[in-house]
This record gives sequence, C-alpha cells and structure tokens, in this order.
Amino acid sequence: MTALRTTQSATPNDSGLAPVASLPGVGPALAETLRKLGIERLQDLWFHLPLRYEDRTRITPIRALVAGESAQVEGVVEAVETGFRYRPQLRVAITDASQETLLLRFFHFRHQQAQQFAPGLRLRCFGAIRHGQHGLEMVHPQYRVLHGDTAVEETLTPVYPVTEALGQQRLRSVIDKALARLPGEAELELIPPNLLRPLGLMPLREALLGVHRPAPDANMQALLAGSHPAQQRLAFEELLAHHLSLKRLRAQVRKHRAPALPPDPGLRQRFLDALPFTLTGAQQRVGDEITRDLDKRVPMLRLVQGDVGSGKTVVAALAALHAIANERQTALMAPTELLAEQHLRSFRAWFEPLGIEVVWLAGKVTGRARDKVLAQLAEGAPIAVGTHALMQEGVAFARLGLAIVDEQHRFGVQQRMALRDKGMTGGEAPHQLVLTATPIPRTLAMSAYADLDVSTLDELPPGRTPVRTVAVANTRRGEVIERIRAACAEGRQAYWVCTLIEEELREESAQGRAGFGGGTRERMLQAQAAEVAHAQLCAALPDLAVGLVHGRMKPKEKQAAMDAFKDGRVALLVATTVIEVGVDVPNASLMVIENAERLGLAQLHQLRGRVGRGSVASSCVLLYQAPLSGLAKQRLETLRETNDGFVIAEKDLRLRGPGELLGTRQTGEMGFRVADIVRDASLMPAVQRVGTALLRSHPALAKRLTARWIGAAARFAEA
Ligand code: ADP
Ligand code: MG
Repeated sequence: MTALRTTQSATPNDSGLAPVASLPGVGPALAETLRKLGIERLQDLWFHLPLRYEDRTRITPIRALVAGESAQVEGVVEAVETGFRYRPQLRVAITDASQETLLLRFFHFRHQQAQQFAPGLRLRCFGAIRHGQHGLEMVHPQYRVLHGDTAVEETLTPVYPVTEALGQQRLRSVIDKALARLPGEAELELIPPNLLRPLGLMPLREALLGVHRPAPDANMQALLAGSHPAQQRLAFEELLAHHLSLKRLRAQVRKHRAPALPPDPGLRQRFLDALPFTLTGAQQRVGDEITRDLDKRVPMLRLVQGDVGSGKTVVAALAALHAIANERQTALMAPTELLAEQHLRSFRAWFEPLGIEVVWLAGKVTGRARDKVLAQLAEGAPIAVGTHALMQEGVAFARLGLAIVDEQHRFGVQQRMALRDKGMTGGEAPHQLVLTATPIPRTLAMSAYADLDVSTLDELPPGRTPVRTVAVANTRRGEVIERIRAACAEGRQAYWVCTLIEEELREESAQGRAGFGGGTRERMLQAQAAEVAHAQLCAALPDLAVGLVHGRMKPKEKQAAMDAFKDGRVALLVATTVIEVGVDVPNASLMVIENAERLGLAQLHQLRGRVGRGSVASSCVLLYQAPLSGLAKQRLETLRETNDGFVIAEKDLRLRGPGELLGTRQTGEMGFRVADIVRDASLMPAVQRVGTALLRSHPALAKRLTARWIGAAARFAEA
C-alpha cells in the first residue's frame, strides 16, 4: 500500500522517520545489519524493546541460589578440570563467603580459556542456575575476571533481540544514540490527550526511556514481570497498533461493494427438507446472522467459531444457498485434502439432489481433468470445493459471490485476502466466511480477529454423549489393546492415532536434514510411526481388520482406507494426525492417542472430536510416556476434566500463549514485543475504545501509530 509511505513523507517534521544512517557511527554496513532486524528508521530503534532484563545489580550468595532462576554470583576458583567424558568439558568450581560451591560448566571453550582459570582467581558470573549431579551449577555463564573492587550494575540490564552479526553491546550503544534523539513528549505522542488522559497511562517518552534504560530506583520486580507502568503503557500502544492494522484491513475490504445475496425461501426450504436432521438453535441463529450480512452490498467478513462437531459445514452450506439463489459462485477452501474431500462429500450429498453441481479442485487434479474444472469455474459452476489449489494461478471464477475458508488458523490473513482478490469481479468483492474449530477466547478474538465479525455455535447437535477420557501410561499398552479387542467384538470401531516423536524431529533438524518448514520430512516420520504401529497392532489383534491411513498415501489409497472404515469393513484404523479435522465416522467410539503428552491441548481436543459423534458412549485413551512434565500433566488433566472446547482453549491460551493457539502461520503476525495477550487482556476494552475513536476522528494518527509498531512488517505485507 503506497498510501502509508506517502503519508509518512508528507510529515517531514516526524524525526522518527530519519534513517538509522543519520546517527553518528552508523555506516552502510551497520545499517544493512540493522535492516535485517527490521530496523531502518530512528523510530524502529526507539521501539526495538528489550526482550527481558538481567538483574546484575546485586551479588547472590551461592548458598542462597535457587534452581531455575538467573543470578549473579561472585566467587573464587577452587578447582578446574577438563574432561572428555562424552564430549569435551571444562568444569570450574567456585566458592564464596557463604561456604558453598557452585560448578560452572563449559562445553565449548578454547584452550586459552581453560588455562586462564586458576585456583584463587576471582570471578563474577551471571547465568541460569540448575540442579547438576553434584549440586547447583551454571552452564555457560557469562563471566568476567575481577581485579580489585568492581561495582555492580546500578540498573537492570536490558537484553535485546539481536542477530549473530550484532551483539548486545553494539546494539545497546546504537539504541543509546537513537534515544538521545528522542523528541519531546508533544512530538512523540500520537494519541490525542482527550483519549489518553482517562486511561491514566504513563507518558510515552518516559515509558520508552524507562524500558530501555531502567532507572536505579525503578521497580525491578515489576519490570521483570512485565507489569511496570512503562511496559503497560507500551503494551497498550502495541495492542492498539495491531488492532488498528486489522481494522484498517477490514476497512479496505469493506470499501468495496459486494453483490447483495438475498435468500430464496423456496430453495432453502427444499434444502432443509432434504437434510437428515433439523438445525440446532445455534445453527439457526448463526445462519440468520449470515443472512443479514449477505443481504447487504458490503462484503461480509464473518468468522464462525464452533467446537468440533458443532455442525459448521451445514452453516457454510446455508450461506452457499444465498449465492446460488443469486447466480453467484461459492468457493469452499480447506487446508488439507482430507478435510476438503470430507466437505466435498457433504456438499455433494446435500446439493446434488437439488440439481446443483459441486466441482472439485485440489493439487492432485491435473491435466485434462484440471482444464475441465477451470473451464467450469470460468463458466460459472455454482460451487467449488478444494484446497489452496483454488487460489493458484490460472484459476478464475466467472462471478464469485462467496468465499468460505475452513480452519482459518491454518491460513494466514494474507491467503484469505488472496482468495478475495481472485473473486473481484467488476469492482465487486466476494463475501467472506471463515470457519474455525478452535474456539477463540474473547479477549484473544478482540485482538487477533479485529477484522472479522464473530459468530459462535455454542450448542452441539442433540444425541451426542460426552467422551470419557483417561490417561494411561504406555507401560499399560497391552491393556489398551485388550480394550480395543473387546470394543470391536461388540461391533464398535476404534482409532489408533500415532503422533510424531518430537525428539526424532529435533534430532533430524540438529543434523540439518529436516530443512526449514520440513513438512515433507515430518509427514514421512509420522507415516513411519504409523506403519510401525500398524504392524504391531495387526500382530496383536489377528482377528481384527486393521486399516492404515497417513499423509504419504495417495489420495485414492487414503480414500479407500477411509471408506473401508466408514463402511465398517475395517474395525481399527491406525492413523496419523491427518484425521485431526473433519473426519466423521459416527460408529467409531474409541480413540487411542499415542504420545499424547507431546500434543497441544487444542490438537488433542480436535482429535478427540472424531469420537463421540454417535449415540454410544465413547472414550478416549491418552497413552503417554512417563515421566510427564508439569505442563503435560496439566494438559492431560484438563482433557480428562472437560469436553468443552472453550474451556480448553482458555486453558491452552494460558499454558502456551496465543501463537500456538492461532497456529504457526500467525505466530509471526502476532509476535508482540511487549504486549502479552493473556497478561494484558484487561487493556483490550480500552484498546478497542481508543481504536474506534482514532479511526473515526484521527485516521492519519492511526496510520502513524501502526507504522511505528509494525511499520517494517506492514511495508512488506502491503507491498
Ligand atoms: P464441525 O463443526 O466439526 O465441522 P460438522 O459440520 O462436520 O462439524 O458436523 C458434524 C456432524 O454432525 C456431521 O455428521 C453432521 O452431519 C452432523 N450434524 C450437523 N448438524 C446437525 C444437527 N443439527 N443435528 C444432527 N446432526 C448434525
Ligand atoms: Mg468441520
């Protein structure tokens, strides 16, 4: 978007926009290094905030050290030892007046360094304390040799995000120079006083200086916890910037006109009459919300969130009916082929009896088949279901009226926009409907989905029985297999889900074999794990038909395996997490998840949602490898306690943070510098209030504020 740049150059007295090279001592080489950190202008340095702080203001006696904390220690070298047990190692024991010993351990060291340590040498070290074999230790502490009295630091030491090419010291000195050029409050502050004053926040200039260079008398505990008023002021502003950028995105979309898609009551009635069930109250309500949106000549931007099994697909179909009634096309895009195929089957079952054709486009559709589909789309085929292949080059819709995206958190905002662009016809934008099975806690939705209106399916179709969940140690695998035998003997069906062993992956990437974003490698390892489990289970359960499905199989094979399971020809289906979303076999009432401790809450909940779809009582066995970490224990506990996706999402948010909950794609987009969506949730109502007022009365200020915080990122994204 060029508007951003034009506005910026139109405000020449904004000293924050000066290039970093205007600072003394910043030459082209350093400027280039900074650029790699996303730092191009003075204000990028002002807003390049410390990740955290180190407390080097005091010396902790060794006796008082606590494992898990970081501390500064001063002591005299007692003994030095180099060894080569498994790998080279340098061990230095130091002691202090508290008469305790602390071990310093180094795995990477130079010969000189090892020689430098001699008994009697006085060291000051800073590092994380942990339990070692012989008491407390620090691994690779930062240290310096002391000669005479050396004062401790007066203030907390900021630790900045850096790159290999730019160390802390160097960056700190550049930031010092930039801070010297920080203008007065009047120029720096962008939020008008009438909006700012009621919030009781610290002035921006004071806040910036306070976080970069904490004063000696600053409240250190608060700074370390992120709750200092200076940090809160900046967190507010950062949340506001993100909020504004999403709102701006929304405004850009809503500037376009969209086709009004009023309902055809007759068509709707015929559709409902043919459905094998009646809509839940929630489905009706959300359907009505969508109807109201589609009746307007502005593009709908709506997110439907609903727990697994809440029946989002039929809500999407109801929306598609509007487009059909008005001779507009609908595209339904899902992130995986399996999920897209599932939608295809539902849509065909519902629409073809009404004489409405549904076409299919995925990456695997090639050659003449693809040409045919493309021709159909160009001629106005009413409904297309598929994967991201729907967004590829060469795909053109005659008159797309509605773009539906399932599982939003796997696509980024960018992809959603790409689908919209595809659908632009004659200056009109398609309506957008996003479906997600990851319920988003309200405060998170306010920050992460400020560009969307949110509808919630808060009711499951009747007749579901809650899934009973148990956690069982892998040592009792035999019992679990017996349980499968018993269940299948009663005519029930079961899933055995294999998850990826993370250690293997990490090992792989440590050896540089799993390239970045090594999805293929990951799928391969998953597939291997599933094949091994399949062989084991076939051997242990010779009387059962055991199927296998994983991401490395051909679509036809996958489909054949799924069909066999659906038809009941296969009793036990061994699968990877490819079945995480969308698969629907009501007779399956038992699920075993291997290495459950390695999965996140949201994913476990998704998987578990594959059972409990029929009327028989279902159960889910979480097989884990002992010992469990504290966090894993909490996750498994949460799943045992509740089936409510919203409760689980709240818990997940608290345990793992928003990046994980929203999926990897959005982690970057949601990467905050000081704000923490969970910790600072209480700021959100004010963020919304101020955001609305700014956009209404001071759009230019809103733009500058966004540029400050996500300037570089936004410049990329909008290019
Ligand atoms: P999700 O929200 O997880 O995408 P689906 O749309 O796949 O859920 O629906 C899950 C199952 O519930 C499907 O078999 C669907 O046909 C069925 N279903 C949807 N709505 C209802 C309803 N109102 N009554 C009974 N079954 C329903
Ligand atoms: Mg679904």
